[in-house]
Amino acid sequence: MAKRSDTDPGVSAAVAAVDDVIDGARAELEALVRIPSISADPEHHADVRASADATVELLRAHGLENVRVAAVDGSQPFVIGEWLHAGPELPTVLLYAHHDVQPPGIIENWASDPFEPQERDGRLYGRGASDDKAGAVAHAHAVGAWLTSAGGLPCNVRVLVEGEEEIGSPTLHAFLTAHLEELRSDVLVLADAGNWQVGVPGLTYSLRGLAAADIELRALDGPQHSGISGGAIPDPVMALSRLLASLVDENGDLAFDGAFDGLLEATANERVPIAGFDDAPQRFARAAGVRPGVHLVGDPHVSLHERLWLRPCLTVIGIDGHPIKGSSNQIVARASARLSLRLGPGQEPERVLAYLRTHLERHVPWGLECTITALEGAPAWQTDPTGPAFDAARRALHAGFGVEAVPMGIGGSIPFVGPFADAFGGIPALLIGPNDPGSNIHGEDESLHLADWRSLIRSEVFLLRELAR
Ligand SMILES: [Zn+2]
Repeated sequence: MAKRSDTDPGVSAAVAAVDDVIDGARAELEALVRIPSISADPEHHADVRASADATVELLRAHGLENVRVAAVDGSQPFVIGEWLHAGPELPTVLLYAHHDVQPPGIIENWASDPFEPQERDGRLYGRGASDDKAGAVAHAHAVGAWLTSAGGLPCNVRVLVEGEEEIGSPTLHAFLTAHLEELRSDVLVLADAGNWQVGVPGLTYSLRGLAAADIELRALDGPQHSGISGGAIPDPVMALSRLLASLVDENGDLAFDGAFDGLLEATANERVPIAGFDDAPQRFARAAGVRPGVHLVGDPHVSLHERLWLRPCLTVIGIDGHPIKGSSNQIVARASARLSLRLGPGQEPERVLAYLRTHLERHVPWGLECTITALEGAPAWQTDPTGPAFDAARRALHAGFGVEAVPMGIGGSIPFVGPFADAFGGIPALLIGPNDPGSNIHGEDESLHLADWRSLIRSEVFLLRELAR
């Protein structure tokens, strides 16, 4: 089937058009990376706005119509565009990406400035270079390649580039409700996932869910001298450490009552070990930069891919006591932590958070005051990767990369997918994207594999054609 596409003169011309302007695509990506559109940081909200405006310009420059910033009360700016001239009998494809990025983390750990893109060894380094500004530029170029080479697209296209994906899409429901008709589509294509490994595309069929909460423990009206009061007054940091430690067992697996509430049993198919992955945890650890001698955590009787894709886990993503710099011999008054849970298929964020809250409240050491604040959550998403849309995606990825796509899960979350697919009656969602295991998205030294990115854009060109068939 891929062969037939390859020899189709229309698609060949569109693929050639991608290759003609790939340097321009990269320059556009670099310009976006230079905008620190960190949705989690209120001080950068003007940058999120600037990045939305730049995305509007990008989509317009590649021939999308009616491109505009759209928002609802309290949301970060979304960007919407469309090209709807293929005819009502042809499908409408929604191309999704996001233009907001994670904070850079510890700047000193980057080999180059996170917001000044730099190429090293065929990879482009910078925050958002992969997640997910590369996805937004890929969509623009797939559309532009068809419009410049053929004067039209093989199907109708809508584009949505979100501005708050990295903070869990807090206004998603309001946004979908307000813009339902402008987004109505038959199939969803997300360029926010990635490849199985360099050179081998992935087609993602499952994402974990997300739940988060802040906890604060308070012992004192204000700090106290650790010599005069230490030994009698409880240390909130120590109390918090004991409490956090009670959430996992000796394997680092979740140990609080209800942590696995609702979790769907993995099917026999989902359990089949993945050759070259489940049997090579050391390689996985090395690729992630795990230090020598550090063990992988999780139930040792569960395969690596199940632990990463299909089971819940918990990470302390922030912790406050007193910074080491400027610390003195004091018992601090309070300590707090932000807990981020990834949830497996079937788990409800509110229910698991309720169990977490119960555990925390019951296990607070020494009677400290405990405040727990639940944050945004989203359930996991899974689909059966069969049917005409998935067949089209497999053909397109094969045509773009030259090798078969690997069906895969992702341990991360894209809260948008489930509600969006449901809003239009359970339309298929095709998750592809620019990152690979070496991209270190959300970490320091995030990067994009430039040759695979070109293969992704080519695949999208094929995909628009295949979805129209
Ligand atoms: Zn992303």
